[in-house]
Amino acid sequence: MTGTVTDKTIIHCDMDAFFASVEQLDRPDLAGRPVLVGGSRERGVVSACSYQARPFGVRSGMAMSKALARCPGAMVLPVRMERYQQVSRQVFAIFSDYSDLIEPLSIDEAFLDVSGCLRLLGPGVKIAEAIRHRVRRDLGLPISAGVAPNKFLAKLASEEAKPDGLLEILPEQVDDFLLPLDIGKLWGVGRVMADKLRALGIDRVSDLRGWRREDLSRRFGREGARLYELARGIDPRPVVPGREIKSIGAEETFSRDLTDPEEIRRQLLSQAEKVARRVRKQGLAAMGLMLKIKYADFSTRSRSHRFRNPAREAEEIWRATLELLKDTEAGLRPVRLTGIYLTDLVNPGRGQQELFCDPMAERRQKLIRAIDELQDRFGSKATRRATLLKQKGSVQGVQKGEDGGE
Ligand SMILES: [Mg+2]
Repeated sequence: MTGTVTDKTIIHCDMDAFFASVEQLDRPDLAGRPVLVGGSRERGVVSACSYQARPFGVRSGMAMSKALARCPGAMVLPVRMERYQQVSRQVFAIFSDYSDLIEPLSIDEAFLDVSGCLRLLGPGVKIAEAIRHRVRRDLGLPISAGVAPNKFLAKLASEEAKPDGLLEILPEQVDDFLLPLDIGKLWGVGRVMADKLRALGIDRVSDLRGWRREDLSRRFGREGARLYELARGIDPRPVVPGREIKSIGAEETFSRDLTDPEEIRRQLLSQAEKVARRVRKQGLAAMGLMLKIKYADFSTRSRSHRFRNPAREAEEIWRATLELLKDTEAGLRPVRLTGIYLTDLVNPGRGQQELFCDPMAERRQKLIRAIDELQDRFGSKATRRATLLKQKGSVQGVQKGEDGGE
């Protein structure tokens, strides 16, 4: 098995309930208590919840009102992104004592390739234990780690190890670990793909194992070939160091300067769609947004916005962009370039998609997921255009109805 699974040693490190743990660290009176970090009690969403809140059925991504209904004694605290970023830098400084090959996935999560350090530092599981010890001792925070021959398995292992745990999957243990797993656990298998697989009677990885590569490829294209490999614990992706995703942006220099405000908005709308799709694809969400406008005379203006809750939907990004746009001279002065950047990217947590509060949002989520998947498969412009047009209608309503709302 070693040859196919890769003979590298990868560690996936992931802080436990990161925002909530930092709050408990800074306020010792909250230690051991249910803590919800996120937006307001009435309209907000839970960005992070301490493990003490989880037995009540509270998860990140859940409406704050619903979370409080389930766990009325929970302490609700606002997101303090600057503080979490400060702690994040300390965590990554510890990682860098153990490997140069570090690939950050979000503010509190990274892959470390320690294959080259084994002779110096000992086996992967020793290194992972040392990292966990350092984070606990120096920062006072819990972190989980998974050790495995590749990224896909290392991430599954750390998930399994949570909270505050360590799990190693040796090459010879891959099958025992993988076969009983629900296919929804496979990397890149979202709800839509999972439903399709279940419709074929594939519920667990062991079911997927029975399928030939050709048949999966015929049904799912490139994705099918990847499923075939994942079902066997194969993931050739290398750890790419320094690829910290600091921001996700889309900008465009137009072939001619734009003066029509409507046309400028249309361009921005398509850029909002684009960055929203990218941030979701990375499994992230944004706390910040930057709008960049370059005028015909090459002078550039940027305007920033902070979200109250991590944002990942085109509509909320678009809404914030329109607010920022009012603070520019776009249209009054001809515009050469527009750009939208999502910044302060965070990991909104597993299960976020499933747990939206109002039914409209849920329907929208479903639609967006379906469109993401269609675009992945066909790169279709048709689906995109249709949603943009639809958005346009609702967007104008939003703009009128919620002036100064954010
Ligand atoms: Mg985490």
